[in-house]
Amino acid sequence: MRFSSLPGLTETKKLLTDAVKGNHIAHAQLFVGAEGALNLPMALAYATYLHCLDKGEDACGVCSACSKNLKFIHPDTHFVFPLSNVKNDKDDERFKADITKSWRAFLLEQPFGNLDDWTNYYGGEDKQALISREESREIIKTLSLKPFESPYKVMIVWQPELMHPSAANGILKILEEPPPHTYFILVTNAVDRLLPTIISRTQIVTIPLLLDEEVESCLVEKHIVEKSKANRIARLAEGNLNLAIQQIDNEEGDHAQRFMDWMRTCFGKKYGALVSMAEEFHGLDKLSQRNMLTYSMNAMREVLLQISGANKMNRSQGEELTFIERFSKQFNVEKIEKSFQLLNEAHYHLERNGSAKMIFLDMSLKISKTLNPS
Ligand SMILES: [Zn+2]
Repeated sequence: MRFSSLPGLTETKKLLTDAVKGNHIAHAQLFVGAEGALNLPMALAYATYLHCLDKGEDACGVCSACSKNLKFIHPDTHFVFPLSNVKNDKDDERFKADITKSWRAFLLEQPFGNLDDWTNYYGGEDKQALISREESREIIKTLSLKPFESPYKVMIVWQPELMHPSAANGILKILEEPPPHTYFILVTNAVDRLLPTIISRTQIVTIPLLLDEEVESCLVEKHIVEKSKANRIARLAEGNLNLAIQQIDNEEGDHAQRFMDWMRTCFGKKYGALVSMAEEFHGLDKLSQRNMLTYSMNAMREVLLQISGANKMNRSQGEELTFIERFSKQFNVEKIEKSFQLLNEAHYHLERNGSAKMIFLDMSLKISKTLNPS
């Protein structure tokens, strides 16, 4: 991965390359980003840049160090990542070799993938992934050796928030005083779940989500998606490139139609139909469920813009806009805010694997009540 493989994020890239050029690289950095931010790819690009033998504004991409880093096999770039089925039996060494192979293949095939994608990729079990205490011992052992080829060692820890507490405590000392020529890059999507003692030992680099335009042009240029489709996907993805890419082949679905039917049913207090809709929602895959909620939240936002007379800012077009215009007559600001909040809560619970049927039904009944105050 090179910086040029990542769309946008010009300022972050400059910040990182300037630190290398000026020789003031922090020894432990924490790349912080929301779910969907490109902080892992940024860490990979940064490692490539650090090791590159002929760097300019970006890694050269062709030197011996780059050719290894681009395949994720550079002996001085080390990775620590969560696993959900850690084995401790006699096959341990073989398991480790296999999982390292899977990890490299995963990074090549899904460079913007998230934890779920990774777990699915290597066939992990459906339970909480962790970085084990054993892993923290490995970190210390690995870093006690001299670099093999590069002047530096780079240790990328993906999702340190999933470290077992004893693992986290195990690396505090080395994080504070890393061996010479060692750079730690911790990559987190949930900084609020990290131990304060970890955070305080690192320099924070915030990786913002991409802009809609950046996601859109990446889809058009790198994934050959038609412009209007890329625009629709980008709006749904809200800066999450991984989600946008998954969306390309995912059946686009008629979220608009579904949303209209759903709102009419809520209005009409047709409780039997709401139960059926909850069952239908339950049957969708996780990505479609999420998209449906995101679509609905976007639609509510559009309705709010319509009500408040800021309709020039509406992003909807055509049929969708007609519906928004008609629909907005049934709403007031208070109802919108309440409904939006309910959608947001449902989204939250769904991400935490609550029952989709119960979440949807509960939300529908509350929205119905909001729309029909007694
Ligand atoms: Zn190079």
